[in-house]
Amino acid sequence: MLVNLKEILAMAEKRKSAIGAFNTPNLECINAVLDAAEKLGEPVILSHAQLHEEISPLKVIGPVMVLLAERSSVPVCVHLDHCETLSYMERALEIGFTGVMYDGSTLPYEENVENTRKAAEMIRGYSCGLEAEIGAMASREGTGGPAAGPVYTDPDQAERFCSETGIDALAPSFGTAHGIYKAKPVLDFERVREISKRTGLPLVMHGGSGVSPEDYREGIRSGLRKINYYSYMARAGAGAVRDMLEKEDVTFFHDLAFRAQKAMEADAERAMRIFSMKE
Ligand SMILES: [Zn+2]
Repeated sequence: MLVNLKEILAMAEKRKSAIGAFNTPNLECINAVLDAAEKLGEPVILSHAQLHEEISPLKVIGPVMVLLAERSSVPVCVHLDHCETLSYMERALEIGFTGVMYDGSTLPYEENVENTRKAAEMIRGYSCGLEAEIGAMASREGTGGPAAGPVYTDPDQAERFCSETGIDALAPSFGTAHGIYKAKPVLDFERVREISKRTGLPLVMHGGSGVSPEDYREGIRSGLRKINYYSYMARAGAGAVRDMLEKEDVTFFHDLAFRAQKAMEADAERAMRIFSMKE
């Protein structure tokens, strides 16, 4: 069933667990994530990132995400990830997205506040929750490379930002990076706990792929309630395709796509088991 971001994060808060948010730029990804969630009976978030617009146009994938979320046996939030353009956000809301992230983290503080407030106004009247970000991570989503270096989120500024914008969830910067890690990340959980205490909001881990199970658990105990996970799942899909091409005589693309889907499902399931804090 389709639920909104506030509802699904309230479920996580009640269970002291986190909800996995998986980017789903194609049907194989959607199937992989929903099949894993349904198998485990876990609530889940399907995300569309604005930067995937070229490989996966919102007007095509968006309605498919919403339809399959509505039909699912588990609670599903359909979320817009790293939206930098308010007109793009409007389109997602019209399609029926129930969560949106406005990302003004590269803007000066005041401008980030101003645009995040506009986003908060925009979602009024929709069954939708708003996530926003302050501080900047070590790499921009999708670039895979280092940017100028991370700017860790200041707890004072986080508190001010949340009270000035009225958001429902905050993505702080505390040492994670997008994409595939080249070295083991060093995460500042003390900062997460402080931001959680000051803001009272559910916190979001970006760059959630490639973190150790112990670090996920520590992060969840510190207040993380949504974990964005994609790169390692997508890499598992690519690995399965490479393996199949090397070892088998493949004629049809649909066989490759299905193999990738099953590998991504297994990877997503592993992640969800950890995020659920049941084991
Ligand atoms: Zn992100």
